[in-house]
Amino acid sequence: MSWQQRITQALDERRQSATYRQRQVNRGGNGRQIQLGGEHYLNFSSNDYLGLSQDAQVIAVWQQGARQYGVGSGGSGHVTGFCTAHQALEQQLAEWLGYPRALLFISGYAANQALLAALMQAGDRILADRLSHASLLEAASQSPAPLRRFRHNHPQSLANLLAKPCAGQRLAVTEGVFSMDGDRAPLAALHSLTRAAGAWLMVDDAHGIGVCGEQGRGSCWQQGVRPELLVVTFGKAFGISGAAVLCDEPTAEYLLQFARHLIYSTAMPPAQACALRAALRRIQQGDALRARLQDNIRRFRQGAAQLSLALTASDTAIQPLWVGDNQRTLDLAQHLREHGLWVNAIRPPTVQPGGARLRITLTAAHQPQDIDRLLEVLHGVNV
Ligand SMILES: *Cc1c(COP(=O)(O)O)cnc(C)c1O
Repeated sequence: MSWQQRITQALDERRQSATYRQRQVNRGGNGRQIQLGGEHYLNFSSNDYLGLSQDAQVIAVWQQGARQYGVGSGGSGHVTGFCTAHQALEQQLAEWLGYPRALLFISGYAANQALLAALMQAGDRILADRLSHASLLEAASQSPAPLRRFRHNHPQSLANLLAKPCAGQRLAVTEGVFSMDGDRAPLAALHSLTRAAGAWLMVDDAHGIGVCGEQGRGSCWQQGVRPELLVVTFGKAFGISGAAVLCDEPTAEYLLQFARHLIYSTAMPPAQACALRAALRRIQQGDALRARLQDNIRRFRQGAAQLSLALTASDTAIQPLWVGDNQRTLDLAQHLREHGLWVNAIRPPTVQPGGARLRITLTAAHQPQDIDRLLEVLHGVNV
Protein backbone atom coordinates (compact mmCIF):
# COMPACT_ATOMS: atom_id res chain seq x y z
CA MET A 1 0.00 0.00 0.00
CA SER A 2 1.41 3.42 -0.93
CA TRP A 3 1.58 6.36 1.45
CA GLN A 4 -1.35 7.99 -0.36
CA GLN A 5 -3.46 4.83 -0.17
CA ARG A 6 -2.72 4.33 3.49
CA ILE A 7 -3.71 7.88 4.38
CA THR A 8 -6.81 7.97 2.17
CA GLN A 9 -8.00 4.64 3.52
CA ALA A 10 -7.61 5.74 7.14
CA LEU A 11 -9.57 8.92 6.45
CA ASP A 12 -12.31 6.97 4.64
CA GLU A 13 -12.67 4.62 7.60
CA ARG A 14 -13.09 7.58 9.94
CA ARG A 15 -15.74 9.13 7.69
CA GLN A 16 -17.69 5.90 7.34
CA SER A 17 -17.84 5.30 11.09
CA ALA A 18 -18.83 8.94 11.81
CA THR A 19 -15.64 9.39 13.85
CA TYR A 20 -14.01 11.95 11.53
CA ARG A 21 -12.77 14.92 13.55
CA GLN A 22 -12.80 18.51 12.40
CA ARG A 23 -11.50 21.57 14.19
CA GLN A 24 -13.58 24.72 14.38
CA VAL A 25 -11.95 28.12 14.34
CA ASN A 26 -12.75 29.92 17.57
CA ARG A 27 -12.63 33.69 17.16
CA GLY A 28 -12.78 34.64 20.80
CA GLY A 29 -11.60 33.15 24.06
CA ASN A 30 -13.05 30.16 25.81
CA GLY A 31 -15.39 31.90 28.20
CA ARG A 32 -19.07 31.57 28.81
CA GLN A 33 -19.68 32.39 25.15
CA ILE A 34 -17.63 31.41 22.12
CA GLN A 35 -17.70 32.66 18.58
CA LEU A 36 -17.29 30.02 15.91
CA GLY A 37 -17.85 30.52 12.21
CA GLY A 38 -19.45 33.92 12.72
CA GLU A 39 -22.01 32.60 15.22
CA HIS A 40 -22.11 33.05 19.00
CA TYR A 41 -22.76 30.06 21.21
CA LEU A 42 -23.12 29.39 24.89
CA ASN A 43 -20.05 27.32 25.64
CA PHE A 44 -20.68 23.96 27.34
CA SER A 45 -17.43 22.36 26.13
CA SER A 46 -14.72 24.16 28.04
CA ASN A 47 -12.59 22.69 30.83
CA ASP A 48 -12.00 26.19 32.20
CA TYR A 49 -14.11 25.23 35.23
CA LEU A 50 -13.56 28.39 37.25
CA GLY A 51 -13.43 30.84 34.34
CA LEU A 52 -9.83 31.78 35.13
CA SER A 53 -8.75 31.88 31.46
CA GLN A 54 -10.59 35.22 31.34
CA ASP A 55 -9.55 36.50 34.78
CA ALA A 56 -8.38 40.11 34.62
CA GLN A 57 -5.87 39.69 37.45
CA VAL A 58 -4.26 36.59 35.92
CA ILE A 59 -4.03 38.31 32.53
CA ALA A 60 -2.39 41.39 34.06
CA VAL A 61 0.19 39.25 35.88
CA TRP A 62 1.01 37.39 32.64
CA GLN A 63 1.57 40.72 30.86
CA GLN A 64 3.75 42.00 33.67
CA GLY A 65 5.73 38.72 33.63
CA ALA A 66 6.35 39.07 29.91
CA ARG A 67 7.73 42.57 30.45
CA GLN A 68 9.99 41.31 33.22
CA TYR A 69 11.24 38.04 31.66
CA GLY A 70 10.46 38.35 27.94
CA VAL A 71 8.05 35.98 26.22
CA GLY A 72 10.13 32.79 26.07
CA SER A 73 12.25 30.76 28.48
CA GLY A 74 15.14 30.44 26.04
CA GLY A 75 15.88 26.79 26.71
CA SER A 76 15.25 23.72 28.77
CA GLY A 77 15.35 24.01 32.53
CA HIS A 78 18.68 22.19 32.47
CA VAL A 79 20.27 24.96 30.43
CA THR A 80 19.06 28.46 31.36
CA GLY A 81 15.27 28.06 31.13
CA PHE A 82 14.60 27.60 34.86
CA CYS A 83 13.83 31.05 36.29
CA THR A 84 12.88 32.47 39.66
CA ALA A 85 9.22 32.41 38.51
CA HIS A 86 9.38 28.64 37.89
CA GLN A 87 11.13 28.03 41.17
CA ALA A 88 8.58 30.07 43.12
CA LEU A 89 5.68 28.26 41.43
CA GLU A 90 7.17 24.84 42.18
CA GLN A 91 7.63 25.77 45.85
CA GLN A 92 4.13 27.17 46.09
CA LEU A 93 2.60 24.05 44.53
CA ALA A 94 4.56 21.71 46.80
CA GLU A 95 3.50 23.61 49.92
CA TRP A 96 -0.12 23.85 48.82
CA LEU A 97 -0.43 20.14 48.12
CA GLY A 98 1.76 18.92 50.99
CA TYR A 99 4.60 17.31 49.04
CA PRO A 100 8.37 17.79 49.39
CA ARG A 101 8.74 18.63 45.69
CA ALA A 102 6.87 19.78 42.59
CA LEU A 103 8.35 19.67 39.08
CA LEU A 104 6.84 21.68 36.23
CA PHE A 105 6.12 20.15 32.82
CA ILE A 106 4.98 21.79 29.63
CA SER A 107 1.70 19.80 29.56
CA GLY A 108 -0.15 17.01 31.30
CA TYR A 109 0.45 14.85 28.27
CA ALA A 110 4.21 15.37 28.56
CA ALA A 111 4.18 14.80 32.34
CA ASN A 112 2.41 11.45 32.00
CA GLN A 113 4.66 10.33 29.17
CA ALA A 114 7.79 11.43 31.03
CA LEU A 115 6.85 9.76 34.31
CA LEU A 116 6.07 6.36 32.84
CA ALA A 117 9.07 6.45 30.49
CA ALA A 118 11.52 7.47 33.22
CA LEU A 119 10.23 5.24 36.01
CA MET A 120 9.17 1.97 34.42
CA GLN A 121 11.56 -0.78 33.35
CA ALA A 122 11.27 -4.23 31.79
CA GLY A 123 10.10 -6.65 34.45
CA ASP A 124 7.93 -3.98 36.11
CA ARG A 125 4.17 -3.80 35.64
CA ILE A 126 1.74 -0.93 35.01
CA LEU A 127 -1.76 -1.45 36.42
CA ALA A 128 -4.14 1.17 35.02
CA ASP A 129 -7.85 1.84 35.32
CA ARG A 130 -9.21 0.86 31.94
CA LEU A 131 -10.78 4.30 31.40
CA SER A 132 -7.54 6.17 32.02
CA HIS A 133 -6.75 9.14 29.76
CA ALA A 134 -5.13 8.51 26.37
CA SER A 135 -1.87 10.13 27.53
CA LEU A 136 -1.56 7.52 30.30
CA LEU A 137 -2.58 4.49 28.28
CA GLU A 138 -0.40 5.49 25.36
CA ALA A 139 2.63 6.03 27.59
CA ALA A 140 1.92 2.68 29.21
CA SER A 141 1.64 0.89 25.88
CA GLN A 142 5.05 2.28 24.83
CA SER A 143 6.71 1.15 28.04
CA PRO A 144 8.87 -1.97 28.30
CA ALA A 145 6.78 -2.78 31.39
CA PRO A 146 3.59 -4.61 30.42
CA LEU A 147 0.25 -2.86 30.92
CA ARG A 148 -2.58 -4.59 32.75
CA ARG A 149 -5.89 -2.78 32.98
CA PHE A 150 -8.28 -3.10 35.90
CA ARG A 151 -12.02 -2.58 35.84
CA HIS A 152 -13.08 1.03 36.07
CA ASN A 153 -13.15 2.25 39.70
CA HIS A 154 -13.03 -1.34 40.90
CA PRO A 155 -10.58 -1.92 43.80
CA GLN A 156 -11.14 -5.69 43.81
CA SER A 157 -10.09 -5.87 40.19
CA LEU A 158 -6.86 -4.02 41.07
CA ALA A 159 -6.39 -6.36 44.06
CA ASN A 160 -6.59 -9.35 41.70
CA LEU A 161 -3.85 -7.87 39.51
CA LEU A 162 -1.69 -7.03 42.54
CA ALA A 163 -2.00 -10.63 43.74
CA LYS A 164 -0.15 -11.90 40.66
CA PRO A 165 3.60 -12.35 41.12
CA CYS A 166 5.88 -9.68 39.63
CA ALA A 167 9.65 -9.62 39.97
CA GLY A 168 9.92 -5.85 39.45
CA GLN A 169 8.02 -2.79 40.68
CA ARG A 170 4.31 -2.17 40.23
CA LEU A 171 2.72 1.22 39.50
CA ALA A 172 -1.05 1.61 39.70
CA VAL A 173 -2.46 4.47 37.63
CA THR A 174 -5.79 6.23 37.86
CA GLU A 175 -7.46 9.64 37.61
CA GLY A 176 -9.03 11.69 40.39
CA VAL A 177 -12.04 12.68 38.27
CA PHE A 178 -12.45 10.82 34.98
CA SER A 179 -12.29 13.11 31.99
CA MET A 180 -15.09 11.61 29.90
CA ASP A 181 -17.38 10.29 32.65
CA GLY A 182 -16.97 12.83 35.43
CA ASP A 183 -16.99 10.19 38.16
CA ARG A 184 -14.42 9.97 40.96
CA ALA A 185 -11.95 7.21 41.70
CA PRO A 186 -12.11 5.44 45.11
CA LEU A 187 -8.62 6.68 45.90
CA ALA A 188 -8.46 5.59 49.55
CA ALA A 189 -9.34 1.99 48.68
CA LEU A 190 -6.92 1.92 45.76
CA HIS A 191 -4.09 3.39 47.81
CA SER A 192 -4.50 1.01 50.72
CA LEU A 193 -4.24 -1.89 48.25
CA THR A 194 -1.10 -0.57 46.57
CA ARG A 195 0.55 0.21 49.90
CA ALA A 196 -0.16 -3.25 51.24
CA ALA A 197 1.39 -4.71 48.09
CA GLY A 198 4.46 -2.47 48.15
CA ALA A 199 3.35 -0.84 44.89
CA TRP A 200 3.08 2.87 44.07
CA LEU A 201 -0.03 4.81 43.13
CA MET A 202 -0.02 7.57 40.51
CA VAL A 203 -3.07 9.85 40.33
CA ASP A 204 -3.70 12.18 37.39
CA ASP A 205 -6.00 14.82 38.86
CA ALA A 206 -6.41 16.98 35.74
CA HIS A 207 -10.14 17.47 36.41
CA GLY A 208 -10.10 17.57 40.21
CA ILE A 209 -7.35 20.08 40.95
CA GLY A 210 -8.70 23.55 41.69
CA VAL A 211 -12.27 22.32 41.70
CA CYS A 212 -12.65 20.04 44.70
CA GLY A 213 -11.13 19.67 48.15
CA GLU A 214 -10.31 22.39 50.67
CA GLN A 215 -8.77 25.43 48.87
CA GLY A 216 -9.21 23.50 45.63
CA ARG A 217 -6.44 21.05 46.51
CA GLY A 218 -8.14 18.37 44.46
CA SER A 219 -9.40 14.81 44.65
CA CYS A 220 -6.57 13.34 46.71
CA TRP A 221 -6.80 15.98 49.42
CA GLN A 222 -10.58 15.63 49.43
CA GLN A 223 -10.30 11.90 50.02
CA GLY A 224 -7.42 12.16 52.50
CA VAL A 225 -5.01 10.29 50.22
CA ARG A 226 -1.42 11.16 49.39
CA PRO A 227 -0.31 9.07 46.41
CA GLU A 228 3.40 8.61 45.75
CA LEU A 229 2.95 10.44 42.42
CA LEU A 230 0.39 13.17 41.83
CA VAL A 231 -0.01 14.83 38.43
CA VAL A 232 -1.88 18.14 38.28
CA THR A 233 -2.51 20.00 35.04
CA PHE A 234 -3.06 23.69 34.39
CA GLY A 235 -5.17 23.56 31.23
CA LYS A 236 -8.42 22.98 33.12
CA ALA A 237 -9.34 24.81 36.34
CA PHE A 238 -6.15 26.91 36.23
CA GLY A 239 -7.36 28.22 32.87
CA ILE A 240 -3.85 28.24 31.34
CA SER A 241 -1.71 25.21 30.40
CA GLY A 242 1.18 23.18 31.76
CA ALA A 243 1.41 20.58 34.51
CA ALA A 244 3.29 19.57 37.62
CA VAL A 245 4.34 16.29 39.19
CA LEU A 246 4.24 16.17 43.00
CA CYS A 247 6.55 13.63 44.62
CA ASP A 248 9.22 13.06 47.25
CA GLU A 249 12.72 14.50 47.12
CA PRO A 250 14.65 11.51 45.64
CA THR A 251 11.98 10.94 42.99
CA ALA A 252 12.17 14.60 41.93
CA GLU A 253 15.96 14.36 41.64
CA TYR A 254 15.61 11.10 39.70
CA LEU A 255 13.16 12.75 37.27
CA LEU A 256 15.52 15.67 36.78
CA GLN A 257 18.17 13.15 35.66
CA PHE A 258 16.01 10.80 33.61
CA ALA A 259 12.76 12.50 32.47
CA ARG A 260 13.59 13.31 28.86
CA HIS A 261 10.70 15.78 28.53
CA LEU A 262 12.45 17.95 31.12
CA ILE A 263 15.87 17.69 29.53
CA TYR A 264 15.23 17.96 25.79
CA SER A 265 12.31 20.39 25.69
CA THR A 266 12.05 24.15 26.19
CA ALA A 267 10.76 25.14 29.62
CA MET A 268 7.41 26.93 29.85
CA PRO A 269 7.69 30.71 29.42
CA PRO A 270 8.45 32.33 32.80
CA ALA A 271 5.58 34.77 32.30
CA GLN A 272 3.27 31.76 32.14
CA ALA A 273 4.68 30.58 35.48
CA CYS A 274 3.88 34.05 36.87
CA ALA A 275 0.32 33.77 35.56
CA LEU A 276 0.03 30.27 37.06
CA ARG A 277 1.02 31.68 40.46
CA ALA A 278 -1.72 34.28 40.13
CA ALA A 279 -4.21 31.58 39.09
CA LEU A 280 -3.13 29.48 42.07
CA ARG A 281 -3.86 32.38 44.42
CA ARG A 282 -7.32 32.77 42.83
CA ILE A 283 -7.89 29.04 43.34
CA GLN A 284 -6.75 29.10 46.97
CA GLN A 285 -9.16 31.94 47.64
CA GLY A 286 -11.74 30.56 45.21
CA ASP A 287 -14.49 29.27 47.52
CA ALA A 288 -17.00 31.62 45.91
CA LEU A 289 -16.10 30.42 42.41
CA ARG A 290 -16.35 26.80 43.49
CA ALA A 291 -19.73 27.48 45.14
CA ARG A 292 -21.00 29.02 41.88
CA LEU A 293 -19.85 25.97 39.96
CA GLN A 294 -21.57 23.66 42.48
CA ASP A 295 -24.79 25.70 42.16
CA ASN A 296 -24.66 25.29 38.39
CA ILE A 297 -24.04 21.55 38.65
CA ARG A 298 -26.96 21.20 41.08
CA ARG A 299 -29.25 23.29 38.88
CA PHE A 300 -28.39 21.22 35.81
CA ARG A 301 -28.83 17.86 37.52
CA GLN A 302 -32.11 18.79 39.17
CA GLY A 303 -33.50 20.11 35.91
CA ALA A 304 -32.26 17.14 33.93
CA ALA A 305 -33.78 14.71 36.42
CA GLN A 306 -37.15 16.40 35.94
CA LEU A 307 -36.78 15.93 32.18
CA SER A 308 -35.92 12.24 32.76
CA LEU A 309 -32.61 12.66 30.91
CA ALA A 310 -30.21 9.74 31.28
CA LEU A 311 -27.73 11.32 33.67
CA THR A 312 -24.69 9.49 34.96
CA ALA A 313 -23.62 9.31 38.60
CA SER A 314 -21.25 12.25 38.09
CA ASP A 315 -21.50 15.08 40.63
CA THR A 316 -18.66 17.01 39.01
CA ALA A 317 -18.47 19.70 36.32
CA ILE A 318 -18.39 16.94 33.68
CA GLN A 319 -21.98 15.87 32.97
CA PRO A 320 -22.08 13.38 30.09
CA LEU A 321 -25.32 12.53 28.36
CA TRP A 322 -25.04 9.00 27.13
CA VAL A 323 -26.17 8.45 23.52
CA GLY A 324 -24.29 5.36 22.21
CA ASP A 325 -24.50 5.75 18.44
CA ASN A 326 -21.87 7.97 16.76
CA GLN A 327 -24.05 9.55 14.10
CA ARG A 328 -26.89 10.18 16.53
CA THR A 329 -24.47 11.92 18.90
CA LEU A 330 -23.25 14.15 16.05
CA ASP A 331 -26.85 14.94 15.05
CA LEU A 332 -27.72 15.91 18.62
CA ALA A 333 -24.65 18.15 18.91
CA GLN A 334 -25.67 19.76 15.62
CA HIS A 335 -29.20 20.30 16.90
CA LEU A 336 -27.86 22.01 20.03
CA ARG A 337 -25.66 24.22 17.82
CA GLU A 338 -28.67 25.29 15.81
CA HIS A 339 -30.08 26.50 19.12
CA GLY A 340 -26.94 28.42 20.08
CA LEU A 341 -25.38 25.83 22.40
CA TRP A 342 -21.90 24.40 21.89
CA VAL A 343 -21.55 20.87 23.29
CA ASN A 344 -18.94 18.42 22.03
CA ALA A 345 -19.85 15.02 20.66
CA ILE A 346 -17.38 12.53 22.12
CA ARG A 347 -16.92 9.41 20.02
CA PRO A 348 -14.58 6.43 19.82
CA PRO A 349 -11.64 6.06 20.04
CA THR A 350 -11.79 8.70 22.79
CA VAL A 351 -14.39 6.47 24.46
CA GLN A 352 -15.09 2.77 23.94
CA PRO A 353 -17.10 1.68 20.85
CA GLY A 354 -20.80 2.23 21.48
CA GLY A 355 -19.97 4.79 24.17
CA ALA A 356 -20.56 8.00 22.19
CA ARG A 357 -21.92 10.81 24.32
CA LEU A 358 -22.48 14.51 24.63
CA ARG A 359 -19.89 15.79 27.07
CA ILE A 360 -21.44 18.76 28.79
CA THR A 361 -19.10 20.76 30.99
CA LEU A 362 -20.33 23.37 33.43
CA THR A 363 -18.25 26.23 34.76
CA ALA A 364 -18.44 28.99 37.35
CA ALA A 365 -18.79 31.45 34.46
CA HIS A 366 -22.24 30.12 33.49
CA GLN A 367 -25.25 32.10 34.60
CA PRO A 368 -28.34 30.30 35.91
CA GLN A 369 -30.23 31.28 32.74
CA ASP A 370 -27.54 29.53 30.64
CA ILE A 371 -28.25 26.26 32.43
CA ASP A 372 -31.99 26.81 32.00
CA ARG A 373 -31.52 27.44 28.28
CA LEU A 374 -29.52 24.21 27.91
CA LEU A 375 -32.26 22.28 29.73
CA GLU A 376 -34.96 23.87 27.61
CA VAL A 377 -33.28 22.78 24.36
CA LEU A 378 -32.54 19.31 25.73
CA HIS A 379 -36.20 19.04 26.68
CA GLY A 380 -37.13 19.25 23.01
CA VAL A 381 -34.92 16.35 21.94
CA ASN A 382 -34.99 12.69 22.64
CA VAL A 383 -31.48 12.00 23.94
C1 LIG B 1 -6.38 17.05 29.74
C2 LIG B 1 -5.81 15.82 30.37
C3 LIG B 1 -4.46 15.52 30.26
C4 LIG B 1 -3.55 16.28 29.35
O1 LIG B 1 -3.19 17.46 29.91
P1 LIG B 1 -2.64 18.63 28.95
O2 LIG B 1 -2.01 19.57 29.90
O3 LIG B 1 -3.85 19.18 28.26
O4 LIG B 1 -1.68 17.99 28.01
C5 LIG B 1 -3.96 14.47 30.98
N1 LIG B 1 -4.77 13.70 31.75
C6 LIG B 1 -6.08 13.95 31.83
C7 LIG B 1 -6.92 13.07 32.70
C8 LIG B 1 -6.64 15.00 31.14
O5 LIG B 1 -7.95 15.22 31.20
